[in-house]
Amino acid sequence: MIILAIGAHPDDIEISCAGSLAKMVRAGHEVVICHASDGDKGHYKIPAEELIPIRRQEAQQSGGIINAKVISLGLRDGEVTAEKESTRSLFIDLICSVQPDIVITHAANDYMPDHVAVSRLVFDTTFLATLPGASKNYPVAKKVPALYYMDNLSGIDFQPTIYVDITDTYETKVEMLKQHQSQLVWLKEHDGVDILDFMQTLSKFRGIQAGCAYAEGFIQHMAWARPNAVRFPVN
Ligand SMILES: [Zn+2]
Repeated sequence: MIILAIGAHPDDIEISCAGSLAKMVRAGHEVVICHASDGDKGHYKIPAEELIPIRRQEAQQSGGIINAKVISLGLRDGEVTAEKESTRSLFIDLICSVQPDIVITHAANDYMPDHVAVSRLVFDTTFLATLPGASKNYPVAKKVPALYYMDNLSGIDFQPTIYVDITDTYETKVEMLKQHQSQLVWLKEHDGVDILDFMQTLSKFRGIQAGCAYAEGFIQHMAWARPNAVRFPVN
């Protein structure tokens, strides 16, 4: 199967679902990681134009750890909007080029405007990509993929319906997140958060709920055609 994980920024996927993606790769599936924005405003000292290549490189290093292809849509922080036609086209091209069986993205009630916009864009365009002539650059998507939402930041107002035991890929997840060195600094300065400790706490909390050391939680989007009879392919 082809699994496409779409986050708003470089590091979002690592925080919420990298342990599961590592398991999917190990199970023989193809994983593609996409970040909509390059995270250009995620640093106090490094200006945007210098930060973009740094964050793209960090994302590539992280994806490389599990042999996942990493794609940037090249948008800017705070400028991801679900209503903009050119942005919708970028997402449709992404879906048509990857042809995913499963898509993982932010839930619609996550904390940050770019995350909420990406959630909406993914819901809309995973369907629209199947319509004739959807993309000028790629063949039409063959099917509406199954859609899963990854945990909200800190897990607020997110009750998983699926838990993945990531105990055996937890260290891989840590290594992937560590590649985002610029964000380890930024999140401390801007949000007062040690993101590695933060991620560990949520992974443990989900693990307590699921009866294992570390877990990640997901909610499957239930609507006609979405389940596609596919199971979450971590084994
Ligand atoms: Zn983000």
